[in-house]
Amino acid sequence: MKRVSVFGATGSIGQNTLDLIARERDAYDVVALTGGGNIGQLAKDAKALQAEVAVTAYPEKLDELRDALAGSGVEAAAGPEAIAEAADRPADWIMSAIVGAAGLVPGLRALRHGTTLALANKESLVTAGPHLMAEAKRHGARILPVDSEHSAVFQGLVGENIEDVERIVITASGGALRDWPLEQLGAATLADACAHPNWDMGQRITIDSASMFNKALELIETREFFDVAPEQIEAVVHPQSLIHALVGFRDGALMAHIGPPDMRHAIGYALHWPDRKHLPVARLDLAQIATLEFRPACEKRWPALRLAREVMHLRGLAGACFNAAKESALDAFIAGQIGFLTMTEVVERTLEQTQAREGLDSATVSLDNILAVDHLSRTRAVEIAAQLA
Ligand code: NDP
Ligand code: MG
Repeated sequence: MKRVSVFGATGSIGQNTLDLIARERDAYDVVALTGGGNIGQLAKDAKALQAEVAVTAYPEKLDELRDALAGSGVEAAAGPEAIAEAADRPADWIMSAIVGAAGLVPGLRALRHGTTLALANKESLVTAGPHLMAEAKRHGARILPVDSEHSAVFQGLVGENIEDVERIVITASGGALRDWPLEQLGAATLADACAHPNWDMGQRITIDSASMFNKALELIETREFFDVAPEQIEAVVHPQSLIHALVGFRDGALMAHIGPPDMRHAIGYALHWPDRKHLPVARLDLAQIATLEFRPACEKRWPALRLAREVMHLRGLAGACFNAAKESALDAFIAGQIGFLTMTEVVERTLEQTQAREGLDSATVSLDNILAVDHLSRTRAVEIAAQLA
């Protein structure tokens, strides 16, 4: 029996992970499931999978969770520290699928026990990439990518030598507003940005796809995960979302990973790694698809990509600032305080001011520095968003 925990179990990635676990119920012991506000789903899954413990991020929801779990034998806990403690429970495999930088500390706690971490939470690599990778190395823990592009690259590198890699190309659908005229983008509403053409995902990442902040995070994620130079990493718009990434080698070969837009492939690959097992994803009919299109990922249309280049060059604490400012700007857009294009402006100004005042390109970075910059950048981004509102 493989002991597994799922952090962010009530979300889009979490639910897809539980779907795969439930299909092979006898193969897994479920240790911890964590969620946020969706107590009904959390309790239902914890009972069905007989988890040891269910944890909500919100202390004020503890009574509701306790009531929902009454008589089931599943423990209830609440709060960020309880989530981090759930990562201390012995497990063989942990899915990190909390959304946002809140996923960082539980992920780090799991790595310190040498646990294999399936990482969907890209924000933790953007916020603390070098620290996270160093901790994994120090404790002999493995991180397996779950983001579809990074899973594709990881699979493309099996049996290869990283020194032979010339470039990594990650694809972007272009999101909900891909075909909108540039001059109309400023007027895009929340509903417009939430209508993703290909992938069914959580609300925040869907909006980040429309603004390309998702791809910006993924460029940085690629840099940190595979330790390749920023110049070797490219993004290309691919409206069909069938090719997830390509790895280019020094002999000119370009290996593409193609598959349906279903996260259960990447999740299942990480769950069964290093083996491959049957997965319930659609099989592609290539003749039916007929056409695969590619377009340049224009930095004028999607300035988040230009900011990602700056962050990759600054490194140090720049990723922590970038991600935190992005999360605050996204909150302000969801709350209707700022427009769609103002999100990028908030992030750019937060980066500029923080670089000018505190300096972001420091060579030595501790978790305390990272968390301090995360906090400071959120406060600053909220102020900037209020000024621009
Ligand atoms: P969702 O919004 O669907 O789910 C997020 C999960 O995190 C939920 O379980 C939510 O609980 C929980 N949560 C929210 N806030 C907190 C908090 N402060 N502390 C602890 N838990 C919290 O997100 P997705 O599943 O779409 O994304 C999860 C992660 O995976 C993100 O990092 C995203 O970038 C990444 N990812 C997602 C992909 C996708 O296809 N969805 C693809 C590739 C990467 P509740 O809902 O109960 O409030
Ligand atoms: Mg992705």
